[in-house]
Amino acid sequence: MAIQQSLVIIKPDGLVKSLTGNILTALSETKLKIVGAKIVKVDREFAEKHYSELLPSLIKKHGDERGKSIFENVLDYIQGKYHTDRVFALVYQGEDAIKKIREISGETNPEKAHPVSIRGKYGRIHSETKVFENVIHCSDSEESAEREIKLWFKPEELVERIYPVKEVIEKQKVLRWF
Ligand code: ADP
Repeated sequence: MAIQQSLVIIKPDGLVKSLTGNILTALSETKLKIVGAKIVKVDREFAEKHYSELLPSLIKKHGDERGKSIFENVLDYIQGKYHTDRVFALVYQGEDAIKKIREISGETNPEKAHPVSIRGKYGRIHSETKVFENVIHCSDSEESAEREIKLWFKPEELVERIYPVKEVIEKQKVLRWF
């Protein structure tokens, strides 16, 4: 079976509800390795990049107006406008990583997710916005995983060279400890 990677994000509601430990424990059942992890503040531009493929599918399912409105709420949600302005991003690696993590996470809609899955246990539908507050993101295919991991992580932030790299010389101002 193929070695795969998956980008996992503990979303702002997961952090606010102190679910990090529970979610990591549930994911540890997969025996996959964590090859990168960091706390990130997500701004609107970054949220749009992460969800670049979501708007067309929402419009197809819910029509133009409703699709766009759900999309706006999803962007607000991942930026932390309803909870806290940060998320915990991780990269998991191992055999069949994508399917294993998606199974433990459960369906997108927390009310349809299996009751013992992460989303089934901890997710809810927000009463006003109707956003699926489902506490975790995980990549749904190898292609999405590669696109998402390259968006969220620099090569040197991962302990494994999971995709080919190139060397570039960049001159830029950086912060160092004083
Ligand atoms: P997944 O996160 O399971 O890969 P999608 O990529 O389709 O699912 O959607 C991204 C996120 O947008 C979901 O995790 C959920 O938070 C939110 N979302 C998707 N569809 C809806 C919907 N119909 N109503 C409310 N929120 C939604």
